[in-house]
Amino acid sequence: MRIIKVDLTHQVITEEEFNQKDYGFLGGRGLIAKFLTDYCDPTCDPLGPENPLLFTTGYFSGTILTTSNRLSIGAKSPLTGGIKESNSGGTLARRMTDHQIKLIMFQGQSKDWVYLYIDKDGKPSLHSAESYVGMDCYPVGDAMRKKYNDRIAIATIGTAGENLGLVSSIMSTEMNSGLPCRGAARGGMGAVMGSKKLKALVIEHSDDPYMIPMTDEQRAEFNELNKKIVNAIYNNPLTGQTMPLYGSAAGVDTTGKMGALPWNNFNGKFTPDWERLGTQQWRKNLIDHGGHGTIPCQPGCIVRCSNEYCDKNGNYLSAGIEYETVALCGSNLGIFDTDHVCTLDRLCDDMGMDTIDIGCALGVLMDNGILEFGDAEGAINMVRNMFSPDSKWGQYLKDGCASVADALGIDKKEGIKRVPVSKRQAFAAYDPRVIRGYGLSWERGPMGADHTSGSAATYIPNLTPEQQADYSLAVTCTCDCFMCLFAWSAVNYNPEARPAICRMAGILQGMEEGPDMSMIDRNGMQILQMEYAFNAKAGITHDQDRFYGGKDNFQYHEKAEATQNVFWSVQNGPLPTPPAPPAAPAKPAEEKK
Ligand code: SF4
Repeated sequence: MRIIKVDLTHQVITEEEFNQKDYGFLGGRGLIAKFLTDYCDPTCDPLGPENPLLFTTGYFSGTILTTSNRLSIGAKSPLTGGIKESNSGGTLARRMTDHQIKLIMFQGQSKDWVYLYIDKDGKPSLHSAESYVGMDCYPVGDAMRKKYNDRIAIATIGTAGENLGLVSSIMSTEMNSGLPCRGAARGGMGAVMGSKKLKALVIEHSDDPYMIPMTDEQRAEFNELNKKIVNAIYNNPLTGQTMPLYGSAAGVDTTGKMGALPWNNFNGKFTPDWERLGTQQWRKNLIDHGGHGTIPCQPGCIVRCSNEYCDKNGNYLSAGIEYETVALCGSNLGIFDTDHVCTLDRLCDDMGMDTIDIGCALGVLMDNGILEFGDAEGAINMVRNMFSPDSKWGQYLKDGCASVADALGIDKKEGIKRVPVSKRQAFAAYDPRVIRGYGLSWERGPMGADHTSGSAATYIPNLTPEQQADYSLAVTCTCDCFMCLFAWSAVNYNPEARPAICRMAGILQGMEEGPDMSMIDRNGMQILQMEYAFNAKAGITHDQDRFYGGKDNFQYHEKAEATQNVFWSVQNGPLPTPPAPPAAPAKPAEEKK
């Protein structure tokens, strides 16, 4: 396969060969860790020319394995100051593979705005993007489709990335609609792209899409094993039934009942009326307004958790709406109308911003009296006008929750700091006092509070907190090499599917048998160690494994209603006893909505 290197400073494009055998089982996040280790000085300015921006595909891209066409984007993060991999669905990764492209590395900085275009024969070239400057992601998509055709895949930044917002995303086109609604949203990858004056990456569909070559014997074995993966996904209640019907927004029911759904800036209480954002209401609004679900965001996905949402008047509003957005731009702000939530989602997608960090930032602003909880119109206007010269808070909001908290002076005030942030990155939509596994991996993880950083949501007996966090993080590292997290959740814990995917990985290496199943865990741990090593050189070490404000963070002091406990930090050592399972209260707590 091919590695394409784009020197933006000198506008020169070169190519090298990529041989998977040189990289073992690394794909996606693993390749990002490896290439950043080799090509990025961890002490560099993340918005300077020395920070490379990488686009790569998963280990199995170019095979029939479902959800294997994830796009991984990586660089040193301008938000956290550490290593960053941010992944998304959409069509771009498959189009890269169509042209045998494993990795694209952008180095240096362009003087003028450009975009990279890869034609239908796989030939890359740089073009002026001056006429697209100032455009948000949806208009860029429209303009590029008009210029080329409907079959192109696009990754682009909006105005947030152009303005170097530290929580700006890179948005990619979804499969059915071709709209740029799939975001590599975390860690400010959009700002890195903006710092290079790279507006977009456009790839034409190939007439002869590439598939990884196999002998007839290998293909027969691979296809047979793949049936076990398909069965595991279809027979898992989450990936076989719930996700296709409701999408990941179904998570609201689970966390709402547990008391882990954030409400009014993670106040730790059970969210009253969570059903207004729950699966039944969500599905009803989706269908009644003329939208639809059960959409695959990328070619070959059999889970199909994506959706397209229309407003009450039946007009298209947004697509690819996920649990995190519903929770953090919804209940976390005291907003329970799905039209309002999806308006915030659309604004963030269009401007190219992370809905998680923006949702948490708005929550902190509301908690400090800048807006009222439940003021949907105020929140929407604040985001919409973020880059207006009249916007007082836009300059902080564009840099996320930690920046807003700094601007409010929370970092300097005495007392408890109600700021849901770890390593400058905002919490995903799970209260760590209730689902401790996430909190541990957010505290300890190399990328801060990532929604994809820790899948061990429950307490694991006999492991130290550090071991539990590392186990959880390593599992996710491997997942991000192989598949979409949702599909992986059905595969990794299935007694037939886990060995099957292990062997499928071996077939791609040309191995006659194996590898041993422990390869999966070793692979993840190897990636995690590369990430920790990068961060250590960047000055981020484990003695900083604390939430915003250090030991004064609210998570260590305010008890959650569900568990009657504070968050038990990595720093506190093992829990004296496993936490009791949370129970729903007889009567929900009252608080101003
Ligand atoms: S499971 Fe959902 S997010 Fe994952 S690849 Fe499929 S549609 Fe995309």
